[in-house]
Amino acid sequence: MKDWIRPEIKALTAYHVPDASGYIKLDAMENPYSWPAELTDQWLDVLRDANLNRYPDPSASDLKNKIQTSLNISAESDIILGNGSDELIQMILMAVSGKDRVVMSVEPSFVMYKMIASFLDMPYVGVPLTDQFELDTELMLANIKQHQPAVIFIAYPNNPTGNLFSEQSIDKVLKTTDAIVVIDEAYFAFADKTYANKLADYENLIVMRTVSKMGLAGLRLGYMAGNKKLLQEIDKVRLPYNINILTQLSTEFALNNKHVLDTQTEQIKLDRKKLLAELNMINGLEVYPSNANFILFRLLGHNADDVFSALKENNILIKNLSHTTVSLKNCLRVTIGDAEENEQFLLGLRSALKI
Ligand code: PMP
Repeated sequence: MKDWIRPEIKALTAYHVPDASGYIKLDAMENPYSWPAELTDQWLDVLRDANLNRYPDPSASDLKNKIQTSLNISAESDIILGNGSDELIQMILMAVSGKDRVVMSVEPSFVMYKMIASFLDMPYVGVPLTDQFELDTELMLANIKQHQPAVIFIAYPNNPTGNLFSEQSIDKVLKTTDAIVVIDEAYFAFADKTYANKLADYENLIVMRTVSKMGLAGLRLGYMAGNKKLLQEIDKVRLPYNINILTQLSTEFALNNKHVLDTQTEQIKLDRKKLLAELNMINGLEVYPSNANFILFRLLGHNADDVFSALKENNILIKNLSHTTVSLKNCLRVTIGDAEENEQFLLGLRSALKI
């Protein structure tokens, strides 16, 4: 057979999701909590009425209205829903794609920005963060001037570093560029800081969020808010019926009961504080501050691969970032789990470090 696959695709490694069965799963920034049985029963009652024989509402209007009100997105902005925010990244880039259309983000950051740029044959520029993983404003502005990007992604807080970049730096970027600037607020629930209130100030600003980290990762729902004219154009590349009926009904139901998710988020924030304090007391670790539901740390006297494997042998799965980019050498990332999981992780870590 003739080899039709594009060389850029052949050069990629598929996004790897390890098999986590049987592990304490602290690798993917999921919320560890399930729902009270009573709430699950009510949810199942809602699903019972779903017409699976019919296509879902193509514009998911009920859910969009629910999101707009319950998540405080102003009526002046439009929103688009996606099958996870991954699909929104893909839609934005499809709408602007072209061989000379540069996609820019920072390094290290969420890998899908670069991957989707490659899928679409778009050049990608990753601007290195500072040693402490802050936005290097001058370097960023110089790169914007040089490359004239079409789209800039800024994860706020950033993954995998966990921090919020300074608002002053981001504002400078917004004031300097005519690129579409996507502030990716996937971890908004844990940070309480947002650019949604600046949507009216910048017509090139898009704020993107997901329900994945709020405790609904299984539903696959992301949304972005922005200028109506811009979003109307991007919406043209959205596949019809991209949000299935089970996701539409379940997300609406969950947002009607958002206090349950909010309580879980508050617990995760408390546990983040505890875990940060515990990690900071361990010698030989550089622990980075976090405004998200995960913590990045660097091993100073040990090899990250060894520690990662030792944890795995103890049935604890976290994320090894050591080989992803030079600035993350010897770095591991742990998602905040429930109290018992965090305790098991700490025990496993201390044992791997032989302390
Ligand atoms: N943005 C960032 C910064 C992320 O870390 C992630 C998921 N890890 C996503 C977007 C994608 O989220 P979703 O589950 O909505 O596709």
